[in-house]
Amino acid sequence: MSTTRTLLIDADDTLWENNIYFERVAGEFFHRLSAGGIPEPRAQEVLWQTEQRNIQITGYGSRAFCASLHETAQALGVTDLEPWIQQQEQTIFHHPIELMPGVAETLPALHEHNRLILVTKGFPDEQLGKLQRSGLAGYFSATEVVFEKSIATYRQLIAKYELVPAQTWMVGNSPRSDINPAKAAGFGTVFIPYHSTWQHEVEEITPDGETLLLENFAQLANHFTTQSIGKVK
Ligand SMILES: [Mg+2]
Repeated sequence: MSTTRTLLIDADDTLWENNIYFERVAGEFFHRLSAGGIPEPRAQEVLWQTEQRNIQITGYGSRAFCASLHETAQALGVTDLEPWIQQQEQTIFHHPIELMPGVAETLPALHEHNRLILVTKGFPDEQLGKLQRSGLAGYFSATEVVFEKSIATYRQLIAKYELVPAQTWMVGNSPRSDINPAKAAGFGTVFIPYHSTWQHEVEEITPDGETLLLENFAQLANHFTTQSIGKVK
């Protein structure tokens, strides 16, 4: 059994900005629909329902999102937005990487004292492209691009990397994906709320298990850059 402390780290909206690019496109989408006479609340509701239905099949990322935009436009009887939607898919897929505050300074120190594994939802081409553009790939000993972050996903990681749950922490911005299922798998968790987390990822943090609440990524250095092994208090 390994005695190395491991930090599993989420990528989107934890290491770099992500949701803002989706929000910008959604905002422009609603604006264009409303110019065509479709009230924004109606368009929002149809998009939300469409995404909730599609996610289980299409997963996450720019392609899945834009497929839902196509479907929403169709359901609302709008056909002239197709080329625009296709264009937005490319824009989101290739968005510039803007690191979250403190990441560039803190990740090297975390790398020195922990084994770091990137755990992100989506599709490998899109997520690995962002990792490459971020310049952060060298700090991670492994990268996992997963379809969902469920308890089963975290249990698979325990087996694959011989993780010791008492010495493993999941760090992220999503209660639904990064915190609650990771705690259920026995990990410690670090919740770094993001200013604009997607509605789909929001849920109440379960009271059991351990969750450290931090204001920003830099604060990880206060807890995970000592040699101590296991739970930090
Ligand atoms: Mg995230």
